[in-house]
Amino acid sequence: ETIVVQELANRMAERVADVVKALMKMGVMATMNQTIDADTAELVIEEFGHKVVRVSDSDVEQVIEQVEDKPEDLQPRPPIITIMGHVDHGKTSLLDAIRKTSVVSGEAGGITQHIGAYQVTTESGAVLSFLDTPGHAAFTSMRARGANVTDIVVLVVAADDSVMPQTIEAINHARAAKVPMIVAINKCDKPDADANKVRTELLQHEVVVEAMSGEVQDVEVSAITGKGLDELLEAIALQAEILELQANPDRSAMGAVIEAKLDIGRGPVATVLVQHGTLKRGDIFVVGEQWGKVRALINDKGERVDQAGPSVPVEVLGLNGTPEAGDVLNVVETEAQAREIADYRHQAAKDKRAAAGAATTLEQLMAKAKADESVAELPVLVKADVQGSAEAIVQALEKVGNEEVRVRVLHSGVGAITDSDVGLAEASGAPIIGFNVRANSSARNSANQKGVELRYYSIIYDLVDDVKAAASGLLSNEI
Ligand code: GDP
Repeated sequence: ETIVVQELANRMAERVADVVKALMKMGVMATMNQTIDADTAELVIEEFGHKVVRVSDSDVEQVIEQVEDKPEDLQPRPPIITIMGHVDHGKTSLLDAIRKTSVVSGEAGGITQHIGAYQVTTESGAVLSFLDTPGHAAFTSMRARGANVTDIVVLVVAADDSVMPQTIEAINHARAAKVPMIVAINKCDKPDADANKVRTELLQHEVVVEAMSGEVQDVEVSAITGKGLDELLEAIALQAEILELQANPDRSAMGAVIEAKLDIGRGPVATVLVQHGTLKRGDIFVVGEQWGKVRALINDKGERVDQAGPSVPVEVLGLNGTPEAGDVLNVVETEAQAREIADYRHQAAKDKRAAAGAATTLEQLMAKAKADESVAELPVLVKADVQGSAEAIVQALEKVGNEEVRVRVLHSGVGAITDSDVGLAEASGAPIIGFNVRANSSARNSANQKGVELRYYSIIYDLVDDVKAAASGLLSNEI
């Protein structure tokens, strides 16, 4: 496991010249383009006062740095919540209704602006931050880019309907991200609403709600009448308390972009959800391949503010270009630093695009699993034409494996391979297996772009055999 010196500098948001100097002091002569081993990198990271975090998430083994926070510097921070669920089950309505509860409760500013996230205060005084983009694509694309901004998932299921494919998908997304769930049984105002049917159906997907003596909180709500909304907010606040979410507000800011656009009047604008530290006017920062200096900060009520602390969403003005959702923002010391890091990232991204086709294939995953014993799982997604096949495939795949590697089915479902599948696959570095189904054209494009492998089969035996062969490292590169 190695890292290029420039990349290390980039990740620490330090100048490469300083990193080379630090290496020299340690007796390691390396230029910015040379690689150093993980142990040396660790020493350098500590030398700069950062903390080493090794992220080992299925296929990606990365050394990502974070500034060390002393326990006494940590303070409670609001939870960040994403609402997920099947289409038409009421995600948007629920987000709107929750937003309105805070307006009614007389919060300053009145009408909230759409900036991609907003905060509400519950009756008991807890502050909650909601991501304003319902759906799974946003969640997974952020995760794929390394921005784990969600602390709690609210799973919306309509009481007049059933657990549907996207409900199951949402459950799997939350599980893959290891984020706790709260079930909002919506549309309880409807005459044909049957909340218990929803609870029973969830059991089949191993979501055991409190009403069924499980651990997952469930709340009956109506986005239309407002019934149960306060209860839902308190349930979220309770879950957040259990999580003991903390951050150090007293350091240079780090955050994730949740929305970005080029505004005709204002130039590039990004909504950033601050994750550590406090973002202030005048701060110099690098965000993805862009950099800038904070000219203005605007909160979710449309008001100009001087600073934004942990879990607070703000619009940031003063960017030199438009970043992408999921990009990470880091405040740095100088403009020179910001420019250097942004330029480096831009170049690296260009190189990566040039090397497109270097996709994560089943074989590469397996090679990696062999080379690196910490990767003991082969994640896959399965889509099939009918439920029976999907189940049979999952059962067969879960039996594949030996002491070195195990197949883990992240998600299985019925129907064509969609963008959402590709998003989840990318986030977890998994290939997608289609059984008698194909990817729709948009999913095909995005799979191409993101380097997600699609494999099609029409015979279960072949499918299982390929995965088995891959698992024992016998599969050649050509299929
Ligand atoms: P989304 O696709 O999950 O974002 O769902 P929407 O929020 O767009 O809601 C889909 C439809 O269900 C809309 O016509 C809403 O008015 C309706 N709807 C949402 N929540 C409720 C509810 O609690 N009760 C009733 N009766 N209708 C609802």
